[in-house]
Amino acid sequence: MDMGQTISKKIITWYKKHQRSLPWRSYTSSSDRDYKVLLSEFMLQQTKVSTVVPYFNKFYKKFRTIRALSKSRITSVLKLWEGLGYYRRARNLHQTAKLVLQKHNGKLPDSFLDLKNLPGIGDYTASAILSIAKDQPFIGIDGNVKRVISRVFNLKHNKKLLLSIEKKLNSMKVKKGSSELMQGIMELGALLCLPIRPGCTKCPIKSHCISFKKNTFKDRAKKKSYQIKYFNAFFITKNNKILFSFNKKFNFLQGLVNLPLVEVATNKHNVTINKVFKKALIGSSSVPLVKYKMSNFLMHIKVISLSNVIFNKTKYFWLGQKDIKKFTISTLAKKLLQVSSNHEK
Ligand code: SF4
Repeated sequence: MDMGQTISKKIITWYKKHQRSLPWRSYTSSSDRDYKVLLSEFMLQQTKVSTVVPYFNKFYKKFRTIRALSKSRITSVLKLWEGLGYYRRARNLHQTAKLVLQKHNGKLPDSFLDLKNLPGIGDYTASAILSIAKDQPFIGIDGNVKRVISRVFNLKHNKKLLLSIEKKLNSMKVKKGSSELMQGIMELGALLCLPIRPGCTKCPIKSHCISFKKNTFKDRAKKKSYQIKYFNAFFITKNNKILFSFNKKFNFLQGLVNLPLVEVATNKHNVTINKVFKKALIGSSSVPLVKYKMSNFLMHIKVISLSNVIFNKTKYFWLGQKDIKKFTISTLAKKLLQVSSNHEK
């Protein structure tokens, strides 16, 4: 047996014994498996497993099949997604469920191209679905897979890294057990082959791992540096109601309810108020700067409390506490509301 196949066999055996018990790993039928893998893969894009689990359980309890999801209203889907962030995923998932029903008779397609034609499904997600749900010889390359494979084969971190990984993965593909292999590599990356201080002594493939033998770990965790963007958010209350807007402008808050928000070049707020409202008075309370991390930038938000505001009624609206619960409020909006309300008291 060649090296790639031996490594795969060891990973599969290890995975069967050490896999974490996750809600999308148990299923009652092949269609239940398809749906759970689809849902988990959408939720896991940009989000870690421990965060996803409670959202997955809540979502699955409400929508148990692709058909049920496709018949639902987007507002219900977004409400269940509330707090998980990256709401575009929820919209894409909803659209995907509708298309699976319309074009594929409710059955998740088992071809790479058909999957990639669905919203929110790229190369990685299509490969992950085909291997995990359909047991086909595909291996999606995410951060964990990349780290494990580049270490095992001690691959050079240059422009050709991805190609080299694909080549090695091709030598590891198996005729039986593709699902366990893909999940096994990912699980190894999540549990043992960590970015820093990997648990090599417990690793099932340490005898084949060149990085372990040479003690060369290329990809230590680097501190991510974020570009800073400046924003003003406006906190305006009247008769126990708060002024909100639907965000159409910022992709990261698509269609969610938020405090009026505007990006500024600097933190000089007096300029932006005139751009947002026809007239307003600046309140006296001073709210500390709110910092909020998005996937690729850091928001510095100055919250400005205003009164006597004259605004465009097509853009802004008042909501009382009871009404707020009916809408999908972004995590950012919740944070801004909490900070602002604390300083109003
Ligand atoms: S031996 Fe260490 S570096 Fe190599 S694959 Fe296992 S955990 Fe990763």
